[in-house]
Amino acid sequence: MNAPLAMTDQGRGFFAEVSQESQGNLSACLQCKKCTSGCPVAGWADIKPHELVRLSQFGCKDELLGSRMIWECTSCQTCTTRCPQQVDIASLNDALRRMSRRASQVNSKTTVPAFNDIFLRTVRKRGRMFEAGLMASFKLRTMQLFSDMGKLPMMLWKGKMPLWSGKVKGRKEREALFRRVRDMDGGRS
Ligand code: SF4
Ligand code: SF4
Repeated sequence: MNAPLAMTDQGRGFFAEVSQESQGNLSACLQCKKCTSGCPVAGWADIKPHELVRLSQFGCKDELLGSRMIWECTSCQTCTTRCPQQVDIASLNDALRRMSRRASQVNSKTTVPAFNDIFLRTVRKRGRMFEAGLMASFKLRTMQLFSDMGKLPMMLWKGKMPLWSGKVKGRKEREALFRRVRDMDGGRS
């Protein structure tokens, strides 16, 4: 692992940490931008995929952990597939999300972490999705009470938003699964 020469000890430490956490080949990046040119969200990203790698190489912790892009990445893997150097940016983003939460540096302008939390809580509790409950919880938590409400009648009409949903058996197994994932992250997630 080769860190750039002009870095502070702190920056070097962050580069080592993010390389370890993402299991990534970050120092191999050529800055060719093939990742960014295929990324479906790069057009409105605050930090584009090739820049995420460059900032990691320079140990820019605050810019990365406070970025919107690490949450708005859809994990589609296009960047990883296109990279000629096998730099896995999708894994880098996963790592940066975990690190961002641990450091309490989650960007307050994105609602993706709230959506992820509610989604996982619903799956954990019910073993399946309950769209109406998820949307109600999401709107209350983000206070976006009336956004997208115009779509609700059509979704109800088409049966895409059932107002009731049962639970799937296997609560104990689900709890064990979530506990195992938590333990894999050293009890931090
Ligand atoms: S495609 Fe790979 S080598 Fe090219 S800029 Fe992106 S991460 Fe770097
Ligand atoms: S995985 Fe994320 S960063 Fe990579 S192309 Fe898809 S949306 Fe963009």
